[in-house]
Amino acid sequence: MLSDTNNPVSANINFEILFYEGLQPMWIFDSGTRKFLEVNQAAITMYGYSREEFLLMSLPDIWPVEDLGDQKFKPGESNQNYTIESEHIYKNRKRVEVEIMIFPFYFKGKAARLAFVKDISERKKREAHLVFLNKASEDLALSFEVTTALKNVSALIVPKFTNWFTVNLLEGEQLKLLYVSNENPDYIAWAIDHRIKNPVTISDTGVQGHILRTGESSLVPYVTDEMLDELVTDKELLRVIKPMNLRSSISVPMIVKNKIIGTVSFISTIDEKIYDELDLVFAKDFAIRIGLVLENARIHQQSMTEIEERKKAENKKDEFIGVASHELKTPLTTLSATLQMLDRIYKNDPESRKIPELLRSGNKSVAKLNQLVSQLLDVSKVEVGQLKLHKSTVNLSDIISDSCHFIELISEHDIQIKGEQNLEVLCDSQRIEQVVLNFLNNAIKYSPDSKTIEICVEKINGFVKVSVTDFGIGIDPEKLKHIFDRYYRVDYSGIQYSGLGLGLYISAEIIRLHKGSIGVDSEPGKGSMFWFKLPIV
Ligand code: ADP
Repeated sequence: MLSDTNNPVSANINFEILFYEGLQPMWIFDSGTRKFLEVNQAAITMYGYSREEFLLMSLPDIWPVEDLGDQKFKPGESNQNYTIESEHIYKNRKRVEVEIMIFPFYFKGKAARLAFVKDISERKKREAHLVFLNKASEDLALSFEVTTALKNVSALIVPKFTNWFTVNLLEGEQLKLLYVSNENPDYIAWAIDHRIKNPVTISDTGVQGHILRTGESSLVPYVTDEMLDELVTDKELLRVIKPMNLRSSISVPMIVKNKIIGTVSFISTIDEKIYDELDLVFAKDFAIRIGLVLENARIHQQSMTEIEERKKAENKKDEFIGVASHELKTPLTTLSATLQMLDRIYKNDPESRKIPELLRSGNKSVAKLNQLVSQLLDVSKVEVGQLKLHKSTVNLSDIISDSCHFIELISEHDIQIKGEQNLEVLCDSQRIEQVVLNFLNNAIKYSPDSKTIEICVEKINGFVKVSVTDFGIGIDPEKLKHIFDRYYRVDYSGIQYSGLGLGLYISAEIIRLHKGSIGVDSEPGKGSMFWFKLPIV
């Protein structure tokens, strides 16, 4: 029977009912030895120890010694009533925050203390989580530099909330380790190296793969050695991770705009730090905030790249305007000089034999100007999708011989036509002639020391292939991939070739509109073969 200092019988009976039947956890301990003298059922349920176990223990077994040394509180020494918030350890090793009220009490004639205990861990945890989240939001807001942002938030929660903090980002099928934090730098280095050697993909059979596929979180309150033995088949890995003392773990998806973009994991290596549902809620919220930062950083990076690209395009355009003005000025200057000479000669000697020669030169300049202006008009049509085809069935040989005939008038190159004759194709004959002429003009321009050009027509698998081969300067392999780009011109340091870098770009567009293909095979110093293929209908 319990006894009170000042004890009318009825009060004793009431107290006994309150102690043994009450829902409030209570225990009585010896104020000198601090051994437990009695404990009620609610406390037995709360701490997880049986009554017998309780009675063999003393206060420090559930209340760590460092707390008992607290200046504010010396259980047993004072005759005052106390209320204190502290941490107790349950039988399952879980460390929980509690509120304890202590009263002086006599138990079976001994000076004792009666304690009422309340588990306030939920409230405390919620408060702590809120502090973490608010601080994390402050650190993460407007942060475009991901690593610094993650470093700041990790400083908030390692080691207070977690000992391992890992952020993984999905890149295609692969889960990349974006950030890992641990108090031990050797462990971080090990984790990075381990992930490089053991990549994780979306089809991974472990926890991470499951989260990525389903969006479901994982909470393992108690990670035991037996569990690790069963899950980790790699003996070497087991040898490394066992001493890390992994005790409790949470892994959650990082979700942005309903899309799983990665995972965030928290592992406790402290025996008493056991995660529960409340921690899981916090972890999910935390992961959402990190996901937002990553998304912001991605959008920021994307817009920076776009700005860079726009700047580059503007620079290219400015450069192009310089090139175009120069290219237009050359034939214009020649034309203007020719007209002045014609004027002078005509006035002095209208029958002069120089006149036809000057007229030819003038016409050549006009043709050049015409070609440049047509290219400029064509390129603006391509830009707005206005380059239209007017198709009809034509004999390809006619287009080729017309083009060659024209070229022979203006150059001394020998053009050899080979392959199929009389092939009919459905195409825009003027546009295809423009492509052939562009190839031929380039072949002449870029083979100053060779006089032979071959043009070949072949039929291959439902397509007709037209190729123009020269034996000129050729093109460097790494330049080839840009050759059909707008404004692209190979920089031949020293030698100047006229041109706007538009002919091949427009040719590629014309062939694309015909649903054909275009390409080049080339070897520097040996020559080039430009070709296009058109479907035969
Ligand atoms: P351009 O009017 O400047 O010649 P193109 O678009 O026709 O423009 O050609 C783009 C670039 O491709 C040229 O500036 C040149 O560097 C390279 N090129 C084109 N044809 C040949 C060729 N037959 N041999 C070597 N280089 C060539």
